[in-house]
Amino acid sequence: MTESRAEPTLFERIAAREIPASFVAETDRVIAFRDIAPKAPVHVVVTPKAGTYRDVVELAEGDPGLLAELVAVARSVAEELSDGQFRLVFNTGAAAGQTVFHVHAHVLAGGLEEATLAGE
Ligand code: AMP
Repeated sequence: MTESRAEPTLFERIAAREIPASFVAETDRVIAFRDIAPKAPVHVVVTPKAGTYRDVVELAEGDPGLLAELVAVARSVAEELSDGQFRLVFNTGAAAGQTVFHVHAHVLAGGLEEATLAGE
């Protein structure tokens, strides 16, 4: 688990509605909203409301049930916004394209031929 943070993460601020986002799903512990810089026709960020875990490795070790919940929300988003088939990307580490160190999945769906795996 990550040490406690001095400041809320960007995604905690989105979850608290301090920063606007285009929400597409929400559960008790998870939110899903459209990525501000989409890399595919459907590009949604699925993330826990709490920024306890920095990346998917920490999440899998610390709360595998919450990881399963992220995957379930990703599936329902892909079913609602596309044909149910999707790519699920967890950038893990800055060199892999991670820019927000609050674990999140990218759901990419629809016309994926040109979608990239990295952030940029
Ligand atoms: P990553 O690079 O894997 O850490 O993913 C962070 C993602 O958050 C990027 O794809 C950004 O485009 C996205 N992002 C950053 N700020 C916002 C925002 N305010 N609303 C929606 N998505 C955002």
